[in-house]
Amino acid sequence: MKLVDLFEKKTVFSLEVFPPRKNTSKESILPTLSSLNDVSPDFISVTLGAGGTAQGNETIEVANLIQNQLHVPAVAHIPSLYRSQQQVDELLDQLAADNIQNVLALRGDPVDGLSPNGTFHHASDLVAYIDREYPNFDVAAACYPEVHQESPSVVADIEGLRRKVDAGADHLISQLFFDNQHFYEFQERLALAGIQVPVEAGIMPCTNKKQIERITKFSGVPVPKKYQKMLDRYADNPLALKDAGIAYAIEQIVDLVSQGVDGIHLYTMNKPEIAEKIWAATKTIFAANQTKDSVEIELVH
Ligand code: FAD
Repeated sequence: MKLVDLFEKKTVFSLEVFPPRKNTSKESILPTLSSLNDVSPDFISVTLGAGGTAQGNETIEVANLIQNQLHVPAVAHIPSLYRSQQQVDELLDQLAADNIQNVLALRGDPVDGLSPNGTFHHASDLVAYIDREYPNFDVAAACYPEVHQESPSVVADIEGLRRKVDAGADHLISQLFFDNQHFYEFQERLALAGIQVPVEAGIMPCTNKKQIERITKFSGVPVPKKYQKMLDRYADNPLALKDAGIAYAIEQIVDLVSQGVDGIHLYTMNKPEIAEKIWAATKTIFAANQTKDSVEIELVH
């Protein structure tokens, strides 16, 4: 079954991890992955650095562990800004050899002081290439409920998305956001543009203040006042901040799932204990959104 077909059966719950640092054994991530597996993810995606030294081996090795040792569908991220067509082919051929046929096709962010030298200038170019040359792959793409920071307008942002979907993106995974209302308005814009592929909402639980500030600054994601108050109040109390961050993420997820979102993509930051707490608080809500068919499929297995 292709990943995209899952969305017809249930509210998808997926996770995102990053590979261990360079020169660290890939197996060092196995305990993290096995704990994450306890939360029954529908798939786990693995990030890959846009440029610089990231060759992709680490991402492929971790994706291989997920797919072939955990037996959970793995999705490999492929940012293309600094990759030639040949390098992209090498990644895709290796993934296919490892029985992995799911990718998140990305442009990637420019690296300071490094001019982009890849074959594919926009994610839509990469999506079209994979769709044409590797038709067995399920291709996801990124989307931005609060508009991508380089987009000159909301309309230009939706046009960029339209190109990716027309090029063959099977489903979309959103950038993190802290205000569900912005996601619902984004869904309305998609509906107006006739974009009908499933869209997963990206949720990042707060693990520490500095990390959230770094990520939101880099990605241009706005931080609502109430979220900022939470960050400020518990800045010196990491345990309280973690609990408050988990509670905030749970509230977002319960609301999104209740409103009928296609799926939740949890940015785990490789912290299984946080994913476990979120899953424990929401699993009955996800289960209540499965169709009878998929419940029967699960019981049979
Ligand atoms: P694009 O879709 O190419 O869009 C980039 C910008 O160009 C947008 O402003 C868009 O409106 C505009 N645009 C698109 N097409 C055209 C066109 N034809 N003409 C003019 N303008 C155009 N980065 C990594 O390096 N590694 C990762 O593993 C990674 N994982 C991510 C996972 C998710 C779920 C998300 C949401 C992002 C991830 N990123 C990752 C970050 C991503 O690479 C950046 O946000 C990047 O700036 C944009 O990538 P994109 O694929 O959305 O680009």
